[in-house]
Amino acid sequence: MLRIVFLGPPGAGKGTQAAEFAREHHIAHLSTGDLLRAAVSGGTPLGREAEGYMRAGRLVPDDLVLQILEERLRSPEAREGFILDGYPRNLAQAMELERLTPIDRVVWFDLPAEVLIARLGQRRVCPTCQTVYNLATHPPKVTGRCDEDGTELVQRSDDLPDAIETRLKVYTAQTEPLLSYYRDKGVLRPIDAGGTPAEVAQRLRAALV
Ligand code: AMP
Repeated sequence: MLRIVFLGPPGAGKGTQAAEFAREHHIAHLSTGDLLRAAVSGGTPLGREAEGYMRAGRLVPDDLVLQILEERLRSPEAREGFILDGYPRNLAQAMELERLTPIDRVVWFDLPAEVLIARLGQRRVCPTCQTVYNLATHPPKVTGRCDEDGTELVQRSDDLPDAIETRLKVYTAQTEPLLSYYRDKGVLRPIDAGGTPAEVAQRLRAALV
């Protein structure tokens, strides 16, 4: 049983690593960002409520995120374990999570702000399968099209400069304090999130043994 949290600023590569690691280990990849985006594009009441916060790069209210996550944590796909990618993002969420489940490891993806800003500006995503590309370091084979399904790639509305700035500020103010919270519990495993996805994957494996 592996119950893991991926903690780190936006653009650190948590989603890319979580998708791969979860596939390899047959555990669930639970990204609250992906779940929220699916609710927004599905036009659900929760999605309509969350949309404005997300576009601005602010945190969606805790109770909404919890609603969407709790159901998935209890689903059969998470029975063998899970990676939480993008949750918790503040202390209240960390306490809520503690109420729901024990956590075995918290991996902290560490990367300087200037690298994050460059990565986020170059990021493009497939709206169909959520595969993430980087125009500079991992472009699609055909310009503007997903390698997996040919869907036209899009830029997330919160990957525009103003929202990027807000997201980094929110991270520093609200999410970073979780580092000492999890360090004190003895479960924190920091990794250098710079370099290629393969290099980070190797550090991740080493951190989780
Ligand atoms: P992400 O894909 O993880 O960068 O998340 C995209 C956006 O979804 C964030 O900027 C927030 O607006 C929202 N979001 C994702 N996870 C959470 C969370 N745990 N708490 C609050 N808002 C969240």
